[in-house]
Amino acid sequence: MKNPDYLALRIKVQEKTQEIEQRNQADILCKKGCSGCCRSGLSVSPIEFDFISSFLTESPEALKEALDAERDLRKSPESCGFLTLSGSCSIYEVRPIICMSHGIPIQARIDEQIQKSVCPLNFKEGLDHIESSNFINLDLINSILSLINARDYEKSAERKSLTPSQFLHRELK
Ligand code: SF4
Repeated sequence: MKNPDYLALRIKVQEKTQEIEQRNQADILCKKGCSGCCRSGLSVSPIEFDFISSFLTESPEALKEALDAERDLRKSPESCGFLTLSGSCSIYEVRPIICMSHGIPIQARIDEQIQKSVCPLNFKEGLDHIESSNFINLDLINSILSLINARDYEKSAERKSLTPSQFLHRELK
């Protein structure tokens, strides 16, 4: 299922992150292959789950790769289930929107306070030295995702955990 509003949001976030990366090449030191942000415990909204599910239906080899990595005892249980043993993301082209912000400064309102964070490898001078235009606003992205979900998934708004086996169960239904 490819929801046009969700696809448009992905493109916007991708453009924004690329623009921030371009502007801050000297301060963004994490590189392709770095997987420090890829921790377990992520969950996705139904619309993102369906988007990834469509990709895995069309690319069973990607699902197999992720399932093999998930079951491999050499892999840390603290890593995201979709992180392969070689350190790449097995669903990179359809990764959740939150993953597009890996390495980029982010901000979100938590308990009525704006909280900011960034990968410790990047912007070494600290959060206070980062211009506001270099932050990804997670509240805005989450609001748009919630609106699309509420409109198109009113019967199943529940978030789903981001693990390969979760998608396997879905494939077998
Ligand atoms: S889905 Fe991919 S990019 Fe996102 S945390 Fe997992 S391995 Fe990393």
